[in-house]
Amino acid sequence: MVYAVPAPPLVELPIIGSVDTFPVRRIYCVGRNYAAHAREMGFDPDREPPFFFMKPTDAIVQNGMAITYPSQTSDFQYEIELVVAIGKGGKEIPVENALDHVFGYAVGLDMTRRDVQMASREMGRPWDMGKGFDQSAPCSALVPAKGKAVDKGAIWLKVNGETKQTSDLSKLIWSVPEVISYLSGYMELVPGDLIYTGTPEGVGPVLAGDVMNGCVVGIGEIETRVTK
Ligand code: MN
Repeated sequence: MVYAVPAPPLVELPIIGSVDTFPVRRIYCVGRNYAAHAREMGFDPDREPPFFFMKPTDAIVQNGMAITYPSQTSDFQYEIELVVAIGKGGKEIPVENALDHVFGYAVGLDMTRRDVQMASREMGRPWDMGKGFDQSAPCSALVPAKGKAVDKGAIWLKVNGETKQTSDLSKLIWSVPEVISYLSGYMELVPGDLIYTGTPEGVGPVLAGDVMNGCVVGIGEIETRVTK
């Protein structure tokens, strides 16, 4: 068989301790999942049901690779997040079974054109151009979950060595099993899906030349540099 245009490359993430790789299928993101971040974005974190948006699969950037300062923004912001990798598909997954569907965890950056996102929000338009652009999803290697819950542990981000975001996974408004359960009520999850679980407070801008270094303690670290 011959493709009429070049076929897209498979997007893969490395797996710690394995020669196998994780094929990325779809990228889901949770909005406003830490109370202090919801407040800094101008919302009351009243445990409203979680909401979701998506990024294209090829927005993934491997750990250590640089990202280019994107076009059409003058407010390019970082959001450090715990990423959940789905290993077993399902729909309408009960909270109590949700961890059976997790392959592993990673550390990701939900890079955002904040000015574009805010303008979309004001006009009631989709967030895609503010959230789902090229190179907007740097992600670390995966740590296999082996059935383990990840419900506490420090999460932080530094820019040029200076701490900008610091929180703990115990402050997630919606836990990993709850997020999986909710999301699978809208979409059938399949192996290869990633879920960015939301960022804590302290989001802010980066410029060309800045180096971001983020961590979820016990899961891993991610580093990327912004270039012109
Ligand atoms: Mn986010």
